[in-house]
Amino acid sequence: MKIDIENLELSVDNYGNAVYYTKDATAFLGSAQGFVFDLLRTAKWGDSEHDLKFQGINSFLKFKEDEFEYPLVKRICDRCKGKGTHGNPAFNGTTIEWWQESGGPDWQEDLEEYMHGDMYDVACEQGCDGGIAYDIDWVRIVNLYYLNADDSNDSKIVRDGCSTQLNWIHSSLMDYYDHMSEMAAERRAGC
Ligand SMILES: [Zn+2]
Repeated sequence: MKIDIENLELSVDNYGNAVYYTKDATAFLGSAQGFVFDLLRTAKWGDSEHDLKFQGINSFLKFKEDEFEYPLVKRICDRCKGKGTHGNPAFNGTTIEWWQESGGPDWQEDLEEYMHGDMYDVACEQGCDGGIAYDIDWVRIVNLYYLNADDSNDSKIVRDGCSTQLNWIHSSLMDYYDHMSEMAAERRAGC
């Protein structure tokens, strides 16, 4: 389903960042930090040719085989909430009984430390930089669209470009989430 930029409503997320959604809830354009992290990892460690520029409000990543670039913006990391570290996921889902049985005589202190301290923390698995992560800059695309609101042919070309780019990023994001949930299902099935 194609997203029409003029049908997008503006709201804010928990961090005060702009997010967009369609009234019929078919699309939500908000934080996509995990997606961007994997894109940057592909750019850094993969062998795909790309341009990557971190230059303030003009930061972007573009792979050679893609028609469009991903506009990037810095945000507070939503995995570690800006801390740079978070609890060790190896302990996720542990119960009090587990701590009692697996821990030594100090199990209560260990559990307390795990719940409220940071001794068991690991570096943020989203690979953020001290709590700051890159995200998709949806605002830049929507703003460019509305900056070219006049009737001229040039403006229409820019608007069409914004619309195609936004839809292209949104569908790669949806493909990414589908892929992630398939992988999670395979892990649960023990593949
Ligand atoms: Zn983080």
